[in-house]
Amino acid sequence: MPVLPIKLTDGVWRIPTFGRNLINSYLIENSDGTISLIDCGLKSTSKKLIASLRAINRSPEEVREILITHAHSDHLGGARKFQEASSGKTHIHESDVSYAENGKNPPIGGGGPLGRVLGFVSSSIPSCHIDQTFKDGDRFNIGTGLTVLHTPGHSPGHCSFYLGNAGLLITGDALFNFRDKISYSFAAFCYDEKMSKDTAERLGDPDYEIVAFTHGPPIRENAKQSVREFLGRR
Ligand SMILES: [Zn+2]
Ligand SMILES: [Zn+2]
Repeated sequence: MPVLPIKLTDGVWRIPTFGRNLINSYLIENSDGTISLIDCGLKSTSKKLIASLRAINRSPEEVREILITHAHSDHLGGARKFQEASSGKTHIHESDVSYAENGKNPPIGGGGPLGRVLGFVSSSIPSCHIDQTFKDGDRFNIGTGLTVLHTPGHSPGHCSFYLGNAGLLITGDALFNFRDKISYSFAAFCYDEKMSKDTAERLGDPDYEIVAFTHGPPIRENAKQSVREFLGRR
C-alpha cells in the first residue's frame, strides 16, 4: 500500500510511516520554497519519506533541514539512509546528539529490569551525522515559525515542536495518542519516567488548535482542551 502524506493544515503534512498512525513523521513547507522534515521513522522508512515527498511533487533535494525529536530508533532510524538522498541539515537537541552519532539509544526503563531487557534488544540504531544541535526556546524559520520545547525524560534531549502561527503542537513522544487515548510516554521507554511526566506539563501552556503525535492520530477538535484535561488542568 503506498504511503501518502495526509494534509494536517496549510503547508503541513503527516506521513504515517508505520501502520495508519502508529509512527508518524511530518513535512512542513517553508516560505523560501524548501521543505523541512520532522523525524525519519524506523531504519526502513527512508523509502516512504521519499515517496511521500514525490506524492506532493517534492524531492529529497528540496529538504532544507531534518529535525529529530529524540534519538530513538523509531524517530532517527531512517535518518542515515535519508541523508544519502538529501543534503538537508540534521538537527537534534544537544543532550541527544552523542546517542545519534554513536548509534546508541539513550538508556530506557529507568534502570529497572524491563528497561534493561528492552534496552538490550533495542540498544542500537544506525548512527547518523548531526549538523547542528538545538536547545529549549530555539526558533526555526520553518513553516510560519517553529519553537523548540525541551520536554526531557523520555530521553535526555527529547523535544516537542510548537508552530504557533499554524496553531499546531507536535508532541513527539512526550505524549502518546494510542487508540485515540492520550497518555504519558510509556514508562518502559523512558530514560526518566517522572521527568517525562513533569515536563509534559508544559504542553498544556501554549495555544494551538491541532495537536499531532508521533504515535497515534492527531486531534483537531478541542486539541488544547483535551491535552489540558489529560494533564489534569483546566
Ligand atoms: Zn521515543
Ligand atoms: Zn517513539
